[in-house]
Amino acid sequence: MDYGDSTTLRAGSFALIYVHLRSSPLNSLSFNTFGYNRRMLIPIDRLVRSRRKTIAIIVERDASLTVRAPQRMSETRINAFVESHRDWITRNQARVLAAGPISPKHFAEGEKFLYLGMAYPLNILPRQRSALTFDGKSFRLSKSALPKAQEAFVRWYKGQAALLLFERVLVLAGKHGFRYQKIRISSARTRWGSCSSLGTLSFTYRLVMAPPEVVDYVVMHELVHTQIHNHSRKFWDRLEGLMPDFKSRLAWLKKNGKYLI
Ligand SMILES: [Zn+2]
Repeated sequence: MDYGDSTTLRAGSFALIYVHLRSSPLNSLSFNTFGYNRRMLIPIDRLVRSRRKTIAIIVERDASLTVRAPQRMSETRINAFVESHRDWITRNQARVLAAGPISPKHFAEGEKFLYLGMAYPLNILPRQRSALTFDGKSFRLSKSALPKAQEAFVRWYKGQAALLLFERVLVLAGKHGFRYQKIRISSARTRWGSCSSLGTLSFTYRLVMAPPEVVDYVVMHELVHTQIHNHSRKFWDRLEGLMPDFKSRLAWLKKNGKYLI
């Protein structure tokens, strides 16, 4: 799918939409640490209804999501359609966010930031006790924290990374009988995770910008390293046995990893 000013994804007809609805049940990965009992719906920033017969999904240049839909289509159907294109949307949002020469963040109102594979807008509030909070729909930055916004984000991402990775390691190691010594959160830019010979698992905080299934892939990868310390055939076979779809998760990381930094 190529994109110029904006990316448009069009579905052929109502019939296709219906097929999507029936064949794509919502995924139900759960991350209870965050208080989310089910996977969050992708937020739609702009819903434009018209007399059109098809539905279109547009990732705008600022990574916001516009959906153009027929006048009477129900929100349930629209959400289901958007959900069934989750990968395409998040991939393009990540791409748009990273567009431009090593685009530094401006911490402007409405600017998008990634969290668990989704882009959320930033709201700047005149008064707020914490420098930065997240309410599930947007990031909220206190105006007084603006000069140190970068630090506030890094601190927030690191906190989330610690919570998320400790839980996922605990769950996956427990489920598959892996032993490890301890977990460390790093700031590595190109190394998603590592496993020392003594069994210390390290993960970069940047992983919390990736979708949950990609986070789990990196965790599983490092857990297998606690038993097999190389990338031999045996290693990949073991990984595939535990996570049969690991290749698509790895492909996501290879394709989008550079956009997470
Ligand atoms: Zn490895």
